[in-house]
Order: sequence, then structure tokens, then C-alpha cells
Amino acid sequence: MLQKVTVGRWSLDAYDVLAPEEIMQELREHAHALKGARILHVNATSYGGGVSELLRSSVPLLRDLGLTVDWKVIGGDEDFFHATKALHNALQGAPRGLSDAEQAAYMRCVQENAATLDGGYDFIIIHDPQPAGLLEAHGKGSAHWVWRCHIDTSEPNPDAWRFLEPLLGGFDAAVFTMPEFVPPDFPVQRVEAIAPAIDPLSPKNIDLDPAMASQILDWIGVEVPGRLVTQVSRFDQWKDPLGVIAAYRLVREEIGDLQLALVGSMALDDPEGWDVYRQVSEAAEREELIHVYTNLTGVGNVEVNAFQRLSEVVVQKSIREGFGLVVSESLWKGTPVVAGRAGGIPLQMPDGTGGMLVQSVEECATAMLELLNDRELAEQLGQSGREHVREHFLLPRLLMEELRLLATLDSGA
Ligand code: UDP
Repeated sequence: MLQKVTVGRWSLDAYDVLAPEEIMQELREHAHALKGARILHVNATSYGGGVSELLRSSVPLLRDLGLTVDWKVIGGDEDFFHATKALHNALQGAPRGLSDAEQAAYMRCVQENAATLDGGYDFIIIHDPQPAGLLEAHGKGSAHWVWRCHIDTSEPNPDAWRFLEPLLGGFDAAVFTMPEFVPPDFPVQRVEAIAPAIDPLSPKNIDLDPAMASQILDWIGVEVPGRLVTQVSRFDQWKDPLGVIAAYRLVREEIGDLQLALVGSMALDDPEGWDVYRQVSEAAEREELIHVYTNLTGVGNVEVNAFQRLSEVVVQKSIREGFGLVVSESLWKGTPVVAGRAGGIPLQMPDGTGGMLVQSVEECATAMLELLNDRELAEQLGQSGREHVREHFLLPRLLMEELRLLATLDSGA
């Protein structure tokens, strides 16, 4: 049931010219201390969403650093993924907890997956709640277990939390994106805050010649050159795509030829995506200037790269957010962002860096309009955002902090 994910080969040396020198050095030191360690990452999906994005880039680099690393995804049936989506929503504060049937579906599937987990790892890193029950179901063995939580669990639904909490007690350490996300009475003693990061050399973030970027968007039906704003995110209520359309409509009253692209992927572990996609498509149906794309119609990493590069403004109107990799991805391309003041987004855009933080449809429209009308301000915010990302949110920093944690667990410090 646990399935291995195949990734490419990649060399860390390529990052020397991009990431701060002291980070590269510290990363290599921790990797040296851990040389030969066997690490397993487990999450719920090999594509769609930020965690798969992170692992696809991290695993090759960790291998290049001399570690033996596997990435596996849990398998599950429809009932399981409905249960895990309900759990995900509830942990982010949704009022509905898990029904008895959902709890049973979760435990049954986790046990089936646990039966296929072979030993032989020194570290097992479990991402998010979907596979969190694996430790309880499998038993600890001789590995160090780390729970890496990517979502905002600061105010979890109490029923859902009562269900999850006993499954977490055995972990040796837990990692959250921000200290604020740690739920009250958290059962793991060793807790670290480590923010995610983007891979500047992945097809999504690598430099793309503007002419080629234009050609790519032209090919899929975007008017280029032409005025364009974009939101890239899973079709998920917490990302508020309908709020983006509402804000866009307000902006259109002033800028009649503005296009909006909503680019959203469908993840295997996200059964609600289709409902949200339907709502978005209906809302956009009679609007020629709103383009809705998904990975299922061929809009993948390189297209996302082009969208983030050629949009005058990228929007990420999240209501709840773990980190929001799309924010750093856009800033890295020098594109200013208008984003919901939620979760880890303000970390990426502190004090007027990178763009504007908003809390309502009206604020979102006002901020978009300001940036669309003041290109100098937009340029300046985009550039400050890129610098901020270079310093704080490139992959080597994330790997360095993760390996530092593993090294201290290994040494028993
Ligand atoms: N993404 C993508 N295509 C899409 C929508 C999203 O490649 O149509 C990527 C996006 O570029 C980012 C990741 O999925 O790398 C989403 O990560 P984020 O942290 O923003 O949100 P999550 O989905 O993890 O909540």
C-alpha cells in the first residue's frame, strides 16, 4: 500500500550561487554528521499541493548529500481520503469533526499501510495528518519519528483533535511552520518551527525567458501581451477562489481589459477539489476574460512558472494557510503579491515587502488596483520580495534546519 515515488537526480552544488553561503556550509556540515543515515518521508500524494512540491525537490538533494532517502505515499480508498480531508479541514478549525465511520476508515487504512512499512530506517518523517497514525499502527522500532505538520493547527476542532492527539504521542519530535500553529496541550515534547521553502532550480521556478513565457501562455489561450492577474492554488475553500473572482470583478470596473487566471491543481488526496472547481467554473462561465486551468488539462510546472512571471500581480487570497509556497514562488520571480493575512503568508511578506496583505474582498480589490495602477510600486515590491525569499525561503535553508534537527535527535541531544 505504501508506494515509492520516483524522483530525479540533482546536485546541491548548483545552489551555491543562489543561496547564502553560511547556509550552504551549515547544511553540508549537518549532512556530514548524518552521513549514511537512512531517511523515509511519508505523505499522502506525489503531486498537487505544497508537500509533494517540497519532497520532489528535497529528496534528490538529500541523496546528493550522501543520505539514503526514500519517499513513499500512503495508499487509500475513497472513504479514507474523505476522512482525511474532513480531518484536514477540522484541524484548520472547521466546525465539523470526524464521524465514527470516518474514524474507522482512517484507522483501517492506516493499519493496512503500516503493514507494508519495512524497517531499516533511522528516521521516519511523517507529513501532515493523513499518515500520522502510521507510528501507532506500526510501532516505533529503532527509528526516530518526526511529525511534520504543514497546516495551521492553532485552533483545531476539539473532536478532531481528540481523535488525532493520541496518535501523535509517540513521536520524537514535531515540526510546525510557525510556533503559533502548535495546538494547545501538544503531546510531543520536542517541537521546532521550520518554515518551508521553494526550489529556485525546479521547472516551476527556474529562470524563463520572457519571450518563451509569453509563447507558453499564448498557446493556452491567454492574451499576451495583455493585462493579467493570477491565483495559483488547489481548488480549496480555504484558498477562496470565489473571493478572488469577486475582487477581480471590482477591479474590472476600472480596468476593463484585465484578465484573471485561476490555475488550480487536483490532488489525489483532495476529493473536495471537484466541488470547488465546479463552483469556480460556474462563476467564471460567462466571463471571457476569466481563464480557469487545471493540471488535468496540461497546465503544469512550466505553465505555472510563466503565469507567475507574466502576471502583473499574483493573488493568494487565502483565509487559512499553512505557508503558501505560491507566495514565495511568485516573489522569487519579482512579481508582487496580494495575499490574505493568513498563516505563514505574512512571514513571506513582512512590513511592506513583496506586496500587500488583505483581509476582505474589498481590500483585495483595492490592493490589486493600486499595484496595477502604480507599476513603479509594483516593481519595487516585487524586487524586495525576491530578496526576502533569497535570504529566507530557498530550499537549502529548509534542508539545513531539517538535518540539524535529525542530527540532534541522532545524538540524543
Ligand atoms: N500548484 C501547481 N499547479 C496548480 C496549483 C498549485 O503546481 O495548478 C503548486 C503551487 O505552485 C505550489 C503548490 O502547488 O508549489 C501549492 O503549495 P502551497 O503551499 O501554496 O499550498 P498547499 O496546496 O500546500 O495548501
